Amino acid sequence: MTATQPTDSPTGAPLVSVRGVTKRFGTGDEAVVALSDVTLDVAQGDFVSLIGPSGCGKSTLLRTIADLTPATDGEVLVSGKSAHQARCDRDYGMVFQKATLFNWRTVRRNVELPLEIMGHSRQDRTARADEMLELVELSDFARKRPHQLSGGMQQRVAIARALAFEPSLLLMDEPFGALDEITRERLNDELLRIWQRTGTTIVFVTHSIPEAVFLSNRIVVMSPRPGRILAEIPVDLPYPRDEATRELPRYYELVTEVRETLRAAERA
Ligand code: ADP
Ligand code: MG
Repeated sequence: MTATQPTDSPTGAPLVSVRGVTKRFGTGDEAVVALSDVTLDVAQGDFVSLIGPSGCGKSTLLRTIADLTPATDGEVLVSGKSAHQARCDRDYGMVFQKATLFNWRTVRRNVELPLEIMGHSRQDRTARADEMLELVELSDFARKRPHQLSGGMQQRVAIARALAFEPSLLLMDEPFGALDEITRERLNDELLRIWQRTGTTIVFVTHSIPEAVFLSNRIVVMSPRPGRILAEIPVDLPYPRDEATRELPRYYELVTEVRETLRAAERA
């Protein structure tokens, strides 16, 4: 397997460009500044993690990129167009902490859902869904209902569904946050494998330091309110990453570096 190297798009522009974004909720004395002058570029093929204490604006930043929350100030460009246009063009796949699967549909038909909405033919939908289920190693469960699957398996279905229409950008908000540590590590391995196989670009929100270090090629550390970018830490661990990666001295050094940066943020 070759290592995935983030590259600029053919135009040389980053895939995601966040420029001076401020987000205020409410007005007057009640106002909460969730993001303050955030500037961030994500290159094509990047795996960027956003990490920071609870309430620092990680979800807000992700939702702003996804055009689910409008910025108060500043702008977000995705593939050189507005976040809104990118959403209309279905440039995003999203995965949240809780997989929002429909129990009245089989696993396969859950993965097919976005393709159905987009008007793909039945044949095309089934073929794509089967391909995605194979990617997340759930082919044997295609005919089951979501409630018959474990929490980790449900998250894998959600990932398959998000990738089914080949979005250029996968936005993930603490997708493994509700899972036990061992399941989380297994899914981290799997997500990296999928990222390398598909070459997709991922922006990933987490508050787990080991998870951020293992997965990312770059970690963006955010400070508590108002949310700002405090540091960007490149992760120079070799690929492919696996069990052995978690035992490398460099892995521990990076975990310590991120932890100390977060501590400094709390004190600031
Ligand atoms: P994180 O994901 O890092 O935990 P959030 O982005 O969810 O943080 O929230 C950042 C801040 O913005 C918090 O203070 C939160 O209370 C506030 N906030 C988020 N969404 C809303 C909303 N819809 N209305 C008002 N305040 C909000
Ligand atoms: Mg959040």
